[in-house]
Amino acid sequence: MSVRRELVSSKKVSNISVRLINEQRILQQLYWHGGQTQLTLRNELRLSSPTITQALQAFKETGLVLEGPEVASSGGRKPRLITFNYDAFHSVGVEIRRHHIAVVVTDLRGQVVCERTESLPFENVPAYWRSINRSIHQLVDAAGVRRVLGVGLAFPGELTLDGSAIERAVVLGLRNEPLDNIRQHFDFDVTIENAANTAGFGAVWRAHGLEDAVYLIVTDNGIAGSLIVGSQIFQGTNARRKVGAFGHMVLVPDGKPCFCGGRGCWSAYCALSNLFARSDGDLDQFFRRVREGDPLYQQQWDSYLTYFAQAVGNIRLALDMDIIIGGKIARYLKEYLPLLEEKVVSHPSLQGDSNFLKVDDIEGNSLAIGAALIFVDRLLSGKLPRFPLP
Ligand SMILES: [Zn+2]
Repeated sequence: MSVRRELVSSKKVSNISVRLINEQRILQQLYWHGGQTQLTLRNELRLSSPTITQALQAFKETGLVLEGPEVASSGGRKPRLITFNYDAFHSVGVEIRRHHIAVVVTDLRGQVVCERTESLPFENVPAYWRSINRSIHQLVDAAGVRRVLGVGLAFPGELTLDGSAIERAVVLGLRNEPLDNIRQHFDFDVTIENAANTAGFGAVWRAHGLEDAVYLIVTDNGIAGSLIVGSQIFQGTNARRKVGAFGHMVLVPDGKPCFCGGRGCWSAYCALSNLFARSDGDLDQFFRRVREGDPLYQQQWDSYLTYFAQAVGNIRLALDMDIIIGGKIARYLKEYLPLLEEKVVSHPSLQGDSNFLKVDDIEGNSLAIGAALIFVDRLLSGKLPRFPLP
């Protein structure tokens, strides 16, 4: 886990930061395991009993951990399980789109407690942001939730590297907008992150145990993506070229025009709109015809998958990471994953490679959920000034 790396790399850690790091380790251990006894915590984290007792006492006071049931003992008094309380706090994620917003309230697991999608055309004016703030209040009230860590905005655009401003959002016609101008309209702590990044962050969070992955979102218009390294969003060095813009890798020199102005990009071949012509934009119908064995549909799907495999192979060769495919296509792609993988590994350099493709078929607002999880991550890492670890 990243905290452990921090521990090793810091040469001059003060006693206070050692204590904080140990507390984070205890909290994260309980979070990912649900519950453990003090003895298991001591053995697995190699910490002293007083350190653990002191941290647990403080976590109990904040409500983050609870006394669980007694468990069997090998002799003597039965130990109690210490359990993580996933309802101690809640988090909010908002997906901002051109014509609507999706708001979710999640528990600390990232499970949705309450959600709402509403029509709200984007307009960078105070009334727009205040309207989102109002919607959050209503949803939080409806969920009966008291302690909200913060609000993560999943945004369709590029942010400055320090996250303090929106560099540009072409789809919303926005440029150089400081986040503070937006924050002032909210009653909550607000952070903003590119929507493909939040989706990738959430997917890797759910696949606990996986720390590095490439995440791809296939939409009607193209393919967006993100790179998650060490369970964190990899930001790169240039805000204008967001990391994970895999959709614009060129597959065919001078090929089909792409919306970016270039030609032959992966997005030009594998935007879902490529599958719409025959089925009027109805993916259910498209895949029904493929399954029924209609040769025209099968041929089109096979050609689509061939381009898809070419791009995925390039990514796998370059990064040697698991690749998670999300977006509207995920639930259809699931049954064709072995076929896609077969096409990918037909490249001589990838022969023998296997099990690196996954689909993110979470139902619902995965972008907003990922944005909400940013605050859960901050809580577990002791990075929330309003909710400091003890
Ligand atoms: Zn392009």
